Amino acid sequence: MINYDYILVGGGASGLMMAYRMSKDSFFDNKKILIIDKEKKTANDRTWCFWEKNEGEWDDVLAKTWQKIQFKSEIHSLEGSILPYQYKMIRSEKFYHKIWNQLANKTNITFVEEAVLSIHQEENSARVVTSSATFHSKVVINSIVFSDESKKQTKFPVLQQHFVGFFIKTLEDSFNNESATFMDFKIPQKGNTRFMYILPYSENEALFEYTLFSENLLPISEYETEIENYLREKNITNFTITEKEKGSIPMTCYHFWKNNSENIIHIGTAGGWSKASTGFTFKNTT
Ligand SMILES: Cc1cc2nc3c(=O)[nH]c(=O)nc-3n(C[C@H](O)[C@H](O)[C@H](O)COP(=O)(O)OP(=O)(O)OC[C@H]3O[C@@H](n4cnc5c(N)ncnc54)[C@H](O)[C@@H]3O)c2cc1C
Repeated sequence: MINYDYILVGGGASGLMMAYRMSKDSFFDNKKILIIDKEKKTANDRTWCFWEKNEGEWDDVLAKTWQKIQFKSEIHSLEGSILPYQYKMIRSEKFYHKIWNQLANKTNITFVEEAVLSIHQEENSARVVTSSATFHSKVVINSIVFSDESKKQTKFPVLQQHFVGFFIKTLEDSFNNESATFMDFKIPQKGNTRFMYILPYSENEALFEYTLFSENLLPISEYETEIENYLREKNITNFTITEKEKGSIPMTCYHFWKNNSENIIHIGTAGGWSKASTGFTFKNTT
């Protein structure tokens, strides 16, 4: 039997943030902690934005902040200051590096790069099964969404916030990087809620994300065509796509916490920390 005091199943935003906090608290210095993830996260696979007043814990890894935001629709458009809040953006690579650098100093924290197949509540402990081993702990903190249980139930509606984004770079200065466009609804709605989310992070660089609130995902080509159409309409033609990102975030009031048991706690999206109305999760994790 391989035993740990704590096992963090999933080393993404919430698992790593949990490990980071544990590494900073001397209570855990003599505790054996295991993090398991199918891949060690180090790259830019996510752009996390969140609202925050004043200074915050993640300010040293911010890529950009905005104090003004815009909404646009056929009947009304507005741009306004959000002070005393700021809209803060993190590119995940810096976040992951900050955390892995901190964890590198802790000999009591181990990382195993393996797929987790299942977790089980046992009598007075929990068991974690990976592709090549079984681990046991009194406290398993899980951030992997294993089942689509939330979609199978009918009590709470479940929408997805799903999107594809292009990071583009233009030859000439093209953007007002002091203002983020939260929702531009001036695009064909096609029977559900669709908008463009635009984060200009310099005068010639911006993230354009075609976003829907709906039940079913689209073929990737459909999101991409809509971004291309939008850019063409805005006369943004001379650009290169430097990166792409995609995501799907559950928007539901389903009680994810009901899956917690005596020795297994669910955190992050798996714990229901994605806000049902917006999909924002990062701030709920901090
Ligand atoms: C592209 C994108 C952009 C987002 N932008 C924002 C934003 O701007 N603001 C915001 O608040 N929220 C945002 N979100 C939502 C949310 O903040 C993120 O999804 C966040 O990463 C959730 O953290 P988490 O720990 O729950 O999940 P994750 O960060 O996804 O971590 C889960 C981890 O589990 C691992 N894993 C999964 N299955 C297995 C398995 N079987 N075995 C082993 N490991 C496994 C994965 O590799 C991953 O590292 C975004 C999501 C995406 C996808």
